Amino acid sequence: MSFTPKSKHLIAGEWLDGPSTFKSEPAHGDAFDYPVGTPDLVNKACEAAEGAFWTYGYSSRETRAKFLETIADEIEARAEEITQVGTSETGLPEARLHGERGRTTSQLSLFASHIRDGAYLDVRHDKALPDRAPLPRPDLKMVQRPIGPVAVFGASNFPLAFSTAGGDTAAALAAGCPVVVKGHSAHPGTSEIVAQAIDAAIRKCRIHPGVFSLIQGGNRDVGSALVQHLLVKAVGFTGSIGGGRALFDLCAQRDEPIPFFGELGSVNPMFVLPEAAKARGAAIGEGWAGSLTMGAGQFCTKPGIAVIAKGADGDAFVAAAKSALEKTASQTMLTNNIAKAFKGGKSRFDVHNAVVALLTNEDEGRKASPNLYQTDLEDYLKDHALGEEVFGPLGLIVRVSAAQEMEIIAKGFEGQLTATLHMEDDDTDLAKSLMPILERKAGRILVNGFPTGVEVADTMVHGGPYPASTNFGATSVGTLSIRRFLRPICYQNMPDALLPAELVIP
Ligand code: NAP
Repeated sequence: MSFTPKSKHLIAGEWLDGPSTFKSEPAHGDAFDYPVGTPDLVNKACEAAEGAFWTYGYSSRETRAKFLETIADEIEARAEEITQVGTSETGLPEARLHGERGRTTSQLSLFASHIRDGAYLDVRHDKALPDRAPLPRPDLKMVQRPIGPVAVFGASNFPLAFSTAGGDTAAALAAGCPVVVKGHSAHPGTSEIVAQAIDAAIRKCRIHPGVFSLIQGGNRDVGSALVQHLLVKAVGFTGSIGGGRALFDLCAQRDEPIPFFGELGSVNPMFVLPEAAKARGAAIGEGWAGSLTMGAGQFCTKPGIAVIAKGADGDAFVAAAKSALEKTASQTMLTNNIAKAFKGGKSRFDVHNAVVALLTNEDEGRKASPNLYQTDLEDYLKDHALGEEVFGPLGLIVRVSAAQEMEIIAKGFEGQLTATLHMEDDDTDLAKSLMPILERKAGRILVNGFPTGVEVADTMVHGGPYPASTNFGATSVGTLSIRRFLRPICYQNMPDALLPAELVIP
């Protein structure tokens, strides 16, 4: 099958050109020209989204559930093309693209059943108390309502599950919010095919076409115009701390500030407690190496730092991790810029005089092989930069002299998406002393597992204190993520004729 892109933006049902083009940079295969986005196109898309809100925001949950399921069907109908273009653009293997497509369509189906169920509306009712003294209580009802148009930034590291029809888009559409996507320039062809699937679903379900637009990137003006547009009411973002922070600041500086739900960076610390190290240090080391290098280390949940005590048990962990990493082949990184940023991050470790290189590799171009470094508590605490995320296959082991020193390290971490404990029953006292610290640091705490492979579920929290996310009350994965795009409204003494359907209690 040969792919020829439309090379257009999708703005409210129309496929439109831009004034100029940029060339894609595929890992292999043909490069194509795509249209550069502009603030004018952003304005057109946002106005159409606002127009759509007046019907879509008041549509039935069943209408929206069917729409989400139809998008999933239309994505499946384009499976072969998505895999072909996605692998070419990102360098990710076919199996990953298949798996990610499955995750994307099941997220859409999960949100369909979530809104059909209706519990997310959090309906509340305080009945009137006309005889209450000294003042009567009015009848009060509350429900969660959609907030209006939402801007979504496609993520470079999830071309499907966190891009055009990914988790942010699915949650916003489920809530009743039209979506304007700023496509990531790492995978414009994949974005275009998925936008075609959404366009087909809009037509089949007869939804207002302003409910979805895709503006391709190629120009920083697009992102800044989008987050500053008066009609946009919230933003979903996954990417770098620098880019995310710049966009977050723009959201905060608006005359009407809006929430910026950014998922930025995390090193996901892993603590190997003494009895676990003694019982199965080598097995944990091998497992860690697998998690560290999964997807070339380009997962936001990559466990980048392992903390373990000095001594023979810790040495067995280190030796097993190193041996497993030595056997791991080089992988292609998502973009030329990400590969360049990785090499920059790695070189900081290579020249650091307080870090010992256990395994280093130099690769050409977009390739990257595993790298492993070690330091101790004293040196680690001297340099804050050692605790920063390096996006790619690189791990740092921090050796402590006494297990209690793990508390000192834990207290020094910034906000994290995850924190992991490897423990046996006899480690429980130490684990208990770490838990209150980890609860203040991370959105998800795991025991005896690895954080890569995020379950899409009702209980999932993919967020955490800054810089893991810019909004610690929110998650970007799982059904709770719909709350980002809802606003509670209280209705006082309201006749049934004026109430949202869900509040009309028979
Ligand atoms: P990025 O540079 O933050 O870009 C993400 C999106 O935001 C892109 O659409 C980009 O537009 C836009 N953007 C960034 N800065 C902007 C600004 N100042 N004004 C307007 N728009 C802006 O992230 P990336 O391209 O995905 O990857 C770069 C680095 O981000 C990686 O090396 C890695 O360190 C980190 N990253 C982390 C995670 C994670 O999950 N923790 C995930 C992905 C990436 P353009 O495309 O036009 O630049």
